[in-house]
Amino acid sequence: MSSSKSFHLVSLGCAKNTVDSESMAQVLAGDGYRASSSPAEAEVLIVNTCGFIGPAKEESYQVLGELAAGKRGDQWLIAAGCLSQRYGAEVIERVPGVDALLGTRRWMDVLELVGKLRRRTSPEPLYHLPDEAATVGRDEGDVLRVAQQGYSAYLKIADGCRRPCAFCAIPLIKGTLVSRPRESILAEARALEAAGVREINLIAQDITDYGHELGVKDGLASLLEALVETAPGVDWIRILYNFPGSVTDRQIEVMAQHKQLIPYLDMPLQHAHPATLKRMRRPANMDWVHRTLAKMRAALPDLALRSTFIVGYPGETEEEFQTLMDFIEEMRFDRLGVFTFSFEPGTTSEPLGDPLPQEVKDERKERLMLAQQRISLENNQAQVGKTLDVLIEGHGEVEGSDEPIAVGRSYRDAPEIDGLVFVEGQPPLGEIVPVRITGAMPYDLSGVVDTGRSVITIDF
Ligand code: SF4
Repeated sequence: MSSSKSFHLVSLGCAKNTVDSESMAQVLAGDGYRASSSPAEAEVLIVNTCGFIGPAKEESYQVLGELAAGKRGDQWLIAAGCLSQRYGAEVIERVPGVDALLGTRRWMDVLELVGKLRRRTSPEPLYHLPDEAATVGRDEGDVLRVAQQGYSAYLKIADGCRRPCAFCAIPLIKGTLVSRPRESILAEARALEAAGVREINLIAQDITDYGHELGVKDGLASLLEALVETAPGVDWIRILYNFPGSVTDRQIEVMAQHKQLIPYLDMPLQHAHPATLKRMRRPANMDWVHRTLAKMRAALPDLALRSTFIVGYPGETEEEFQTLMDFIEEMRFDRLGVFTFSFEPGTTSEPLGDPLPQEVKDERKERLMLAQQRISLENNQAQVGKTLDVLIEGHGEVEGSDEPIAVGRSYRDAPEIDGLVFVEGQPPLGEIVPVRITGAMPYDLSGVVDTGRSVITIDF
């Protein structure tokens, strides 16, 4: 039996979706709804779906299908997020138990939608998808656009994207860029600082575009300066999703000036061959990439670099792929994500089709990942003997023994996507401790607390 005014929310996909899910949860909690981890006990079931690429869509359908199969007559199932936005009618057709669709930019209307479901007199599903003009620049009221996980949080500074990348469905799903008001972002940073958060991860579809539609030049750099001043107690501020060609000298300068802005750069490059990049409608000036990365490495000597690539894009020849292989050998990224091309109807690349067989795509992905595994291991081995500050996030025991161990991350590791640092003993959770690195694995490091340096403590 479900208890009234309770909800069960499943968030799928990226960190940007996680922030929307947290914001929806806040709206519901503000009206007295209680979160439940058990679908059987909740009155409202919500899946914040992902519709970015094929496998993400299938996962969304699977979760919706499972909840629909177990749903009782006194429960409602809402499909929110990207999949619903883009494939609303298909979602209703494939998952007959869905009661309502909630679009990506209407998460703040979740309560209104639940109210409509309560008053509904026919079983017809409700469509609540955005009318973009009504949502652009809309004030989010008191709802925070953050997702806090332990001592770390994501803070969303913009939504949507105005770039023309041919393979990407995001602009179709989310619409064009909308930057959030600077004052709201700063207020949220202050609230996170007051809550004892040690790390803020700034997110947007394209973070370097922050402020563009408002006519602000170097909007990200000036926001970073304001953040550092506003929330000095947040130890690490990490900037995710930088668009190639848009990282400015000013951004590099600001990052180099402030210790809080950690030397970590995530710049999804997607490919390294100019012809492939042109077909992708991405910046194809590889000289800029070389110059900018060299500049960043000079200004930020401990820079940790992350990038993402797509293999098997339509027309990718073996020679083009080999250019990408050579490029990663040369650049020696610390972290790398590799995706195989996923054909998305409605995107600009649709006319190119999906000519490369899946085996070819998989084999290229495997080759790239294997090469990167070696590079990543070598980069990690170079950390052995150094002392890194590590944010302690979990306690446990070494497998097969009762030896205590802690798990954390250094500035080199973004949450969820990068590696971990395993630390002997159990330094307190939420502290940033100096750890002398003693072991390296392809993705993770291990070490011991460096007693030669003092532990940084915090008050909660
Ligand atoms: S920058 Fe390109 S790949 Fe990234 S969200 Fe925008 S259109 Fe998609």
